Amino acid sequence: MSPNVVITGANRGIGLAFCKRYLELGYNVYAVCRQAGSELPNLDVIVIEGIDVSQPEDVEKLKGALHDIPVDLLINNAGIWGKESLGSIDYDNVQKVISVNALAPLRVTEALLTNMGTGSKIALITSRMGSIEDNTSGNGYDYRMSKAALNMAGKTLALDLAEEGIAVGIYHPGFVQTDMVGGMGDIPPETAAERISERIKELNQNNSGSFWHSNGELLPW
Ligand code: NDP
Repeated sequence: MSPNVVITGANRGIGLAFCKRYLELGYNVYAVCRQAGSELPNLDVIVIEGIDVSQPEDVEKLKGALHDIPVDLLINNAGIWGKESLGSIDYDNVQKVISVNALAPLRVTEALLTNMGTGSKIALITSRMGSIEDNTSGNGYDYRMSKAALNMAGKTLALDLAEEGIAVGIYHPGFVQTDMVGGMGDIPPETAAERISERIKELNQNNSGSFWHSNGELLPW
C-alpha cells in the first residue's frame, strides 16, 4: 500500500514542489491549501481546499477531511514572510506571522496525531532565520521570532512523541526561488523539495528533533 503524505501550503512554491516530489516517490499526496490555484488540479493529488492553517475551525475541517486516513508523513510547509524593523514594528502583524508560522504547524500536528503512529514522521519547514546563533544581520523580528518558536515546538514535539515512535525533522530549505523571496534565491523549489525528501528519508528516532539545512548540514539553534 502506498504511504500517505499531508502537505500544507501545497498550491505553490516549495509546497507544490513537495507534491510533485512525493508523487514521484509513490505516495498518496493530500495537498492542503486555501485555494488550489492553477497547477495543483493538474496533479494526481487529493486536494483539500479552503484550509487556512491559522484558523482553528479550518484545522478541524482538515481533521474531518482526513478522518481515519493514516498519516505516514506530515509536512508543515505553509508560511508567510515578515519584515518588521525596529522603530516601526506593527505588532498585529507580528502576531499574525507567529500565528501562521509557529502556532499553525503545532495546531495542525496536534490535530492529526490520532492519524499517526509508530514510524510516522513530521517535517517542519522552518528557516535558518530562526536560529539565534546564526543571526548576524538582525532585523525581521516577526519572521525570526516565528521560526525560532517553530524550532522550539519541533524539538519539544520530538521529545514528546519519541515514545510513540514518531520522528520530527526541522528543515531549512535553503534560499529558494519562490514568491516569498520575490523569485530570488539560489535554488529552484524542486531542488529544495528533493533535498528535504532525502533528509526525511534519513529521519529516525536517533536524529529526531534536529535542525537541518536541506543540503544535509546540521544547523545551530
Ligand atoms: P510561498 O510564499 O511561495 O508559499 C507559501 C505557501 O504557504 C503558499 O501555498 C501559501 O498559500 C501558504 N500559506 C501562507 N499562509 C497560509 C495560511 N494562513 N493558511 C494556509 N496556507 C498558507 O513560500 P515558500 O514556498 O518559499 O515557503 C514555504 C516554506 O518555506 C515557508 O514556511 C517558508 O517560511 C519556508 N522558507 C522559505 C525560504 C525561501 O527562500 N523561499 C527560505 C526559508 C524558509 P496561499 O497561496 O493561499 O497564500
